[in-house]
Amino acid sequence: MQFMTKSDYEFSRYLNTAGKKELSGIIRYFCAETPQEELSELAACANRLREKHYGRRVYFRGLIEFSSHCRKDCYYCGIRKSNFNARRYRLSEEEILSCCQNGYNLGFRTFVLQSGEDSYFTDERLCSLVAEIKQRFADCAVTLSVGERRSDSYKRLYDAGADRYLLRHETADVAHYDKLHPPMMSLENRKQCLYSLKEIGYQVGAGFMMESPFQTFDTLAEDLIFLRDLKPHMIGIGPFIPHMYTRFAGLDTPSSGRTVVMLSLIRIMLPKVLLPSTTALGTIDPQGREKGLKAGANVVMPNLSPVAYRSDYSLYDNKICTGEEAAECLHCLTNRIESAGFEPDFSRGDHVDLQKGGDLICG
Ligand code: SF4
Repeated sequence: MQFMTKSDYEFSRYLNTAGKKELSGIIRYFCAETPQEELSELAACANRLREKHYGRRVYFRGLIEFSSHCRKDCYYCGIRKSNFNARRYRLSEEEILSCCQNGYNLGFRTFVLQSGEDSYFTDERLCSLVAEIKQRFADCAVTLSVGERRSDSYKRLYDAGADRYLLRHETADVAHYDKLHPPMMSLENRKQCLYSLKEIGYQVGAGFMMESPFQTFDTLAEDLIFLRDLKPHMIGIGPFIPHMYTRFAGLDTPSSGRTVVMLSLIRIMLPKVLLPSTTALGTIDPQGREKGLKAGANVVMPNLSPVAYRSDYSLYDNKICTGEEAAECLHCLTNRIESAGFEPDFSRGDHVDLQKGGDLICG
């Protein structure tokens, strides 16, 4: 195929200028038709671009899942509001700070605070929490992943000290979005939240599920077009894994292949982006996280949440690393990453343009 005769730069430029039809064809080709040697060359191209900007470093983020309450009802999610089988928990501020202290002692310099959309966490409560973390751990970055809020709420949280915000768009195709979400949710609002976050000054993370129900090569092309327009600093993509208490229970869990291909295409399209190799990828494939890193990813997010609550933050079934203490989990993951030829890095791990003190130019 002609892509593999292009230079890395030419291939990147092509992905940044191709129309939806061409992108859909490229995705189809690499996901469904490519011989193994071309997949290896695709991953090699992604790796060269990752190495150019980030070397062999893999950034560690400490994930704290602090509340499993959610007012939303996304059809695919195990902790959605109408799953009455879900066990709900909410960590106290002291418990969250204790997770941070534990993570800090283990070397983490980024904390990712993630929850469902929990109305208990008003702006006042979240701002107070963020400010306290920043005061106690001044050399750390705080990433929030707490869903859709008003723009003025995002601004207050930013002013309180939050550095980054993760909000996956899940799919950039409106008809597809509407098949995965109830009518009161809209793709338009989701996208607007992401643009607001970026305008306020956050390092922003978007992303989508791979192989979700009703996904096509065309909807994936829409995802790439949205991402290259938004130019987020981080992109999280993970395989769709069905949860037993959702309408999608019983659907097949995908293999890791297509997620790995999309990680490479995203790295090539946006070479400087921070790209996690997700826990979901490690859940569907024992070597999944290593495969993700070898395909161009450069971030992992070990869990710092208290073990007693981990299995209750159940977005999908059979999630890994729910039983080990943070230190055990970390030891195992660090060894695996080194064995795969990468360098674990516990620094803040900002987007490369910010590491150099540059402006917020990303891509
Ligand atoms: S995906 Fe997020 S917003 Fe949707 S139900 Fe689950 S936790 Fe709530």
